[in-house]
Amino acid sequence: MKKVRLSKCSISEQEKHAVLDVLDKEYLGMGSETMAFEEEIAAYLELPASHVASVNTGTSALHIAISCLGLGEGDEVLVPSLTYVASFQAITAVGATPVACEVLPDTLFLDPSDVERKITKKTKAIMPVHYASSSKGIEPIYSIASKYNLRVVEDAAQSFGSFRGNTKVGSVGDIICFSFDGIKNITCGEGGAVVSSDDAFMSKIRDARLLGVQKDTDKRFSGQRSWDFDVEEQGFRYHLSNINAAIGRVQLRRLDEFREKRQNIAAVYSKSLSGLNGIKLLSFSYHEIMPHIFVVLADDRDRLREYLLKNGVEVGIHYKPNHMLSKFSTGESLPVTEGIYSKVLTLPCHIDLTNDEQEYVMQLIGDFYE
Ligand SMILES: *Cc1c(COP(=O)(O)O)cnc(C)c1O
Repeated sequence: MKKVRLSKCSISEQEKHAVLDVLDKEYLGMGSETMAFEEEIAAYLELPASHVASVNTGTSALHIAISCLGLGEGDEVLVPSLTYVASFQAITAVGATPVACEVLPDTLFLDPSDVERKITKKTKAIMPVHYASSSKGIEPIYSIASKYNLRVVEDAAQSFGSFRGNTKVGSVGDIICFSFDGIKNITCGEGGAVVSSDDAFMSKIRDARLLGVQKDTDKRFSGQRSWDFDVEEQGFRYHLSNINAAIGRVQLRRLDEFREKRQNIAAVYSKSLSGLNGIKLLSFSYHEIMPHIFVVLADDRDRLREYLLKNGVEVGIHYKPNHMLSKFSTGESLPVTEGIYSKVLTLPCHIDLTNDEQEYVMQLIGDFYE
């Protein structure tokens, strides 16, 4: 029987060579590869290099961002419940409280009216999530943020390489956090980045990723160590290694190829599934985004899921809402999110998915609803 994978990375000989080069040089930690990776991410986003700081995971990017905003005990962050648990854990990691919000049913993006309803005196920030790489509808969130004087930390873990209109995601906004984990749009193996044009904030991030050691980033980038230093702030061991950065640099060069492939997969699914009774597509601009996952809303989702699994097709559920997890439950229900949770199904989408495999998936779905 065929086995169709849900997601995977695509590693060529180039990434392997890049890693071997780093190993040969025997400088594995944060150094010249990391610096070059940051500069190249910044160049892609058309930003000064100082506006980008790489870190070791997307979760670290979110955590360090919340931490460097000075949030802690008693502060509230508004966040959609329908997100990976990383968003919530990053908030509670500093002692702050995630306030679970609804999403809009067509885009699964943070619902601005629910956000505004849940603002209190304790609210300090909003964390919109680029669900399935789409950030359509982020403007009203920024309007609310400026009206109430709140910071915005975008969880853009899934949307590196995407556009919003003609704008590259990450090139505008308050604070944007990316992930380069094993299955994201580009990978470093594990990696992430914080992007912001707030210079004071970025300077804090650069220190905080190296245990708070002041100006250590400059030293590491020139191959030196800090022996006499001061530490004033909480820091973490969140820097990106040369090994991981070397993988990311090659992946970044393959971004256009990757984007085209993912957009193609999404276009084929959209065309084939749009007329189907039982499947509802999300209203995304697939020619603008670089879809990390392809999600549909399916009637009788659990039976369809079983059917696809039984026939060798891996599918996913993004996500079990965080307000339904023991750690984050407050007893409050979110009816829209819970309704969506019963329908979301993620179909295979990755660089090496073949036309035949995709055809097979669509055929099975067609047969199921016949
Ligand atoms: C992947 C992901 C993260 C976490 O990124 P890691 O690099 O895996 O730590 C956070 N939020 C969302 C929405 C993600 O998809």
